[in-house]
Amino acid sequence: MQPDPTPPAGLKPLTPGLAAKFASLAGPHGALDEPSDIAPYTQEPRDLYHGASPLVLRPATVEQVSAILHLAHEERIAIVPQGGNTGLVGGQVPFGGEIILSLSRMNRIRDVDAAGNTLTVEAGATLAAVQYAAADAGRLFPLSLGSEGSCQIGGNIASNAGGMHVLRYGNMRDLVLGLEAVLPGGAVIHGLKALRKDNTGYDLKSLLVGSEGTLAVITAATLKLFPRPADVATAFVGLPSLDAAGAFFSQASEGAGPLLTAFELMPRAILDFAFRHIPRHRDPLAARYPWYAVIEISSPVGDGVAERAALSILEAAMEAGTVADAAIAASDAQARAFWCLREGIVEAQKYEGGSIKHDVSVPVALIPRFIAEATAAVEALVPGARPVPFGHFGDGNIHFNVSQPVGGDAAADKAAFLARWDEMQALVHGIVLKYGGSISAEHGIGRMKADALAAIKSPAEMALLRGIKAAFDPRGVLNPGKVVAKLTALD
Ligand SMILES: Cc1cc2nc3c(=O)[nH]c(=O)nc-3n(C[C@H](O)[C@H](O)[C@H](O)COP(=O)(O)OP(=O)(O)OC[C@H]3O[C@@H](n4cnc5c(N)ncnc54)[C@H](O)[C@@H]3O)c2cc1C
Repeated sequence: MQPDPTPPAGLKPLTPGLAAKFASLAGPHGALDEPSDIAPYTQEPRDLYHGASPLVLRPATVEQVSAILHLAHEERIAIVPQGGNTGLVGGQVPFGGEIILSLSRMNRIRDVDAAGNTLTVEAGATLAAVQYAAADAGRLFPLSLGSEGSCQIGGNIASNAGGMHVLRYGNMRDLVLGLEAVLPGGAVIHGLKALRKDNTGYDLKSLLVGSEGTLAVITAATLKLFPRPADVATAFVGLPSLDAAGAFFSQASEGAGPLLTAFELMPRAILDFAFRHIPRHRDPLAARYPWYAVIEISSPVGDGVAERAALSILEAAMEAGTVADAAIAASDAQARAFWCLREGIVEAQKYEGGSIKHDVSVPVALIPRFIAEATAAVEALVPGARPVPFGHFGDGNIHFNVSQPVGGDAAADKAAFLARWDEMQALVHGIVLKYGGSISAEHGIGRMKADALAAIKSPAEMALLRGIKAAFDPRGVLNPGKVVAKLTALD
């Protein structure tokens, strides 16, 4: 999708005079207006969307964010909040020449309370920086994503990020205790409470989690910390079939209970992509299997309990025929190599040409049926297409990605294949909905799925979503065209 510089209805274009006013509100070194400086903020990781913006603001304080949003509301100028720019649904991309409001300079860890198991951090800190700060205090911040070196806590909250450890610790919504945020108009919500219980009416914090920059700009958060696991066992597991994956997940959940902290699924085809294109990856198992799992068992007690649990689960599963072969990591380095391979499959897809991606979820027990039906459907739609469904099996979250057919003119075929995105998406989403699933498990709605959202929610639900948007942002200045694309209640 290419940018259209016409501002959305009800909003105004940015004049040079207003641009100078905004720049002065962001303080010294707080504004970028050279195209070469702006370019990294308008490209996104998949190279699917190409944004355009005349100005990037990088405020350093919540007061500056407040002044910027006040002026934007008064002058009806559109703003796109941006964190690490790793979002996968175009939510952080300016499509109509909006100002980009980057939180990257607001990146301080404000407080770590190890005894209370909380950490307070500004929105622009990277997820990795928060993980390190927690580790320095002898605690765990469990959110873990392939993009953790670049994505920011504000972006994680705004997109309600999931990742590898949702199975045990929940997604970002479950990890946020309090938020500081600025509303369009400039009012600051001072909600940095470290409370586990707070039933004081409607929960504004929960509304802001997952709001994808459409309701407010998140400037800081108080997050939950956990004890660090003293003992972790990571296994790379070869599975004879997809049905066996389902049976093995049940065995692992029963055998490890809350100690099962991750259960990721991958097909052989996507591992082959990684081995073909990324030399550092090695196959941990001697033979080939149609499906694989990476599982992690963690215990807060360091007496070898995790490894004993992993061994006994794997032995029983091999006896039952649900597991064909497995390697338990013998060192931290080997465990990291298993995870590196799991994360490497995301990158590897881009070397195989065009890829049509679906971030969906279905009830865990229905995953094998969903994958089988969706695979048959996309292969019938585009003969030769190569489905490589993988993901967070334990959460019912499958990235049902489909690579373009092999052969022919790669560049022309890529364009022709990607031109079928909407058609294939409608087909896969139809099957997801039939199984009682969700068309966005963890990446959000952004621009990519705004039309799809309007098509699947009831009129009553859409009216409520639009009403919430209008209550927070009556002039529609924050992230127009995202999540609820068409508004009704603008003043
Ligand atoms: C290699 C790779 C692996 C990934 N793996 C996962 C995964 O396992 N699970 C997962 O859930 N996601 C994953 N993602 C997607 C992405 O990293 C997450 O959605 C992440 O949470 C986005 O954070 P960000 O800081 O980059 O946000 P951005 O991309 O900058 O923004 C995302 C959305 O949040 C809004 N936003 C950002 N900051 C703020 C703020 N301070 N206040 C208000 N709104 C804001 C933006 O307007 C936009 O709508 C992956 C991405 C990549 C590239």
